[in-house]
Amino acid sequence: MNGHAVLGNVDMPTKGAMVILRSNSELDQWLAAAGGPIHFVPTMGGLHRGHQQLIRAARGAGGRVLVSVFVNPTQFAAGEDFTTYPRHPDRDIQQAADTDAVWFPTVEHIYGDANPDRSHAGSGPPIKPSLIQTLCGPWRPGHFEGVLMVMARLLERVQPALVVMGEKDWQQLTVLRQCLPALCEKRCRLLPVPVVREGDGLPCSSRNSRLSPSQRRQAALLPQALGDAEAAVQAGERRSAVLEQLVRARLDATELRVDYAQLVHPLTLQPCPHLDGVALLGVAVHVGPVRLLDHRFLLSRQPIIAIDGPAGTGKSTVTRLLAARLGLLHLDTGAMYRAVAWLMLENRQPIRSDAALQQLLETMELRLAWGDHGQQVICINGVDVSDAIRLPRVTATVPRVAALPQVRQVLTRQQRAFGQQGGLVSEGRDMGTAVFPNAELKVYLTATAAERARRRAADMTQRGQTPPPLATLEAQIAERDHLDRTRTEAPLRQAEDGVVVATDGITVEQVVDDLEELFHQRVPRGAEPWANTEPVA
Ligand code: AMP
Repeated sequence: MNGHAVLGNVDMPTKGAMVILRSNSELDQWLAAAGGPIHFVPTMGGLHRGHQQLIRAARGAGGRVLVSVFVNPTQFAAGEDFTTYPRHPDRDIQQAADTDAVWFPTVEHIYGDANPDRSHAGSGPPIKPSLIQTLCGPWRPGHFEGVLMVMARLLERVQPALVVMGEKDWQQLTVLRQCLPALCEKRCRLLPVPVVREGDGLPCSSRNSRLSPSQRRQAALLPQALGDAEAAVQAGERRSAVLEQLVRARLDATELRVDYAQLVHPLTLQPCPHLDGVALLGVAVHVGPVRLLDHRFLLSRQPIIAIDGPAGTGKSTVTRLLAARLGLLHLDTGAMYRAVAWLMLENRQPIRSDAALQQLLETMELRLAWGDHGQQVICINGVDVSDAIRLPRVTATVPRVAALPQVRQVLTRQQRAFGQQGGLVSEGRDMGTAVFPNAELKVYLTATAAERARRRAADMTQRGQTPPPLATLEAQIAERDHLDRTRTEAPLRQAEDGVVVATDGITVEQVVDDLEELFHQRVPRGAEPWANTEPVA
């Protein structure tokens, strides 16, 4: 491990020497000398492989890594295990190798009071009541208020660029993401780390050290019970009451005492009556003197991201990059409408709903495939039209084609068939509102018409085409928006539960980073990688 020294014995925190900080002034001095971004790993000590994984993630993201060890009294209720919580500072220092500094604040350092009562938590940031109505909320009143309170104080003092936390405590992570001002206001980024488990599947936890060998064997039944629920989902079970009961029944037959087994929506933490997409099955049990948590993300299909928005918002580029990053397939539904427009132009089919169009649609064979770099290849009636559909005459025709109800019906049906097994980032005009209303993440990308005209011109130049003047492009964009927004069939609008992302003045990479973060608020990193198979329609 790295050597370590108490601050005061060292001038500067040099690489390879871990510094131990025992007072606020030592911390402030170290922070001032650090001179770069701080990556912060807050813990309550009893460090184990789970914490070490957080430290590795913090280290991997660059910056100086600071670990805090603080058993926070305001998140424990009377009768909980505050006094018996494992406290082994020397062992923690050993376990925290590869850290620049370990900070051991005292209760007074954080609260200015040796015996803060839980009313301190009342003066912390407000909590969204809906987030504490399920899972641990009702069983540990005041707990999440205490967590919010201490995290607000820790971040205020440290001002980190990044805070690294575990997906193991999903409800805590969700509460902090949605209620902690530094995270909500993006003054600090959060890096979530998947659950680290013991060989038998039990999540690593400081409290595991308090179990006797026989209690420890019993505890391993917890992940097994969750595995039973997962197997039931694979066998087709979707009813949450059945899945919850399955876990309970398995655990009730042991010495584990169940507080809850509950299926909830990962972002809202509201109960899910039915599994549709991705949900979290959380469990808390008592084993001897210890209360343990575990969860499993259950998937009735692979996740779906729906990205809608008007033309020229950078949707295609963002979708392609996001799909590649997450290992999901990029479904460009605009290309499907373009392919039909191309076919209608080739066949000199008037742009209207009639019997000839019906005949064309019924006999058309539209196939999608994905190349080595995830790029979508589109063939219609055996012809690869991936490039031809980008020609200006197709661009000019496609809004009117997309407004034809017959065309929409046929293509929507095909898109939904792709979505049955999921694993997609789909882009279009009505993905979140009409085609995939149950997508895990629905995004509405926007940008001003002027910005979009500039992007369209650059795109055309890159494709070797000569763009018209910007004013003409802007007028075309406005007309297309009007058509898309006013058509009777699935008009362009944002989904009620969608997230609006304005892309003016931010880079594509920033947009992709933001979307990746939004996705991981709904689907954990720990659920990757998906089976990256091509969907069959
Ligand atoms: P604690 O010391 O229990 O408060 O945990 C400190 C941080 O480590 C929290 O962000 C936890 O979610 C995270 N953590 C604890 N156990 C694990 C684990 N087994 N895997 C991943 N992260 C963990």
